[in-house]
Amino acid sequence: MRRFLIGGNWKLNKGIIETSEFATYLLKKDLNINNIDVFIAPPFTSIPKALEVFANSTISIGAQNMFWEEKGAYTGEISPLFLKELGVDWVVIGHSERRVVFGETDEWVRKKLEIALRFGLRVVICIGETERQREEGREKEVVEKQLKKAIEGIEFDPESISIAYEPIWAIGTGKTAQPDDAEEMHRVIRELLGKKGDKVSIIYGGSVKVQNAEELLRQENIDGALIGGASLDPESFSKIIKIAEGILC
Ligand code: PEP
Repeated sequence: MRRFLIGGNWKLNKGIIETSEFATYLLKKDLNINNIDVFIAPPFTSIPKALEVFANSTISIGAQNMFWEEKGAYTGEISPLFLKELGVDWVVIGHSERRVVFGETDEWVRKKLEIALRFGLRVVICIGETERQREEGREKEVVEKQLKKAIEGIEFDPESISIAYEPIWAIGTGKTAQPDDAEEMHRVIRELLGKKGDKVSIIYGGSVKVQNAEELLRQENIDGALIGGASLDPESFSKIIKIAEGILC
């Protein structure tokens, strides 16, 4: 069965000192993570420290990106092999900031998905429409295209991938999708996944915070959250984890 997933995307925040401080604070909280999966995706250079400080905890470590080849002449890229070697469990691909700022295409996302699965990484595939596309009523068409192109021709175990529906206009803006609008998009995404849909965790991202987490996470087709800003503060992140655990108890 699909599991609830809470992911923290730190983006370009927290070097090794702040990673240690975050862990010291978070691990003092009585988190009792039993029913859900939780990961934190720090910047690449903080990953070894994160793996060390969360080693004896129920928090896994993810990467925010990776390249689609194992090795070669690709200056500045990170291989899925290196992530695996470090002990990373999760990788996020197709984040809207990668798509918008770095020109990541649906084709890159597909290639990254393929190799990530080959290396046994668990993958969060991000999809979502812009404000303009929503205003034009094209949000479903946009996520359908992104999703289909990402998984086209790839055999996958539904438990090794998770889809993050992240409307771009809600990321880092403080604007959040209305819970019923988000639920509707998640329902559509689940349908698009066909027979595997029931087993794939579909998580919401876009200004999730303590104040709106419960209402979003209680929606039938919302199986967790990918959290940017609020995951940088151990107090908020721990509260959201507790909300998610509480829903499943
Ligand atoms: C994200 O980075 O995926 C995200 C959803 O960011 P925020 O929670 O800050 O909107």
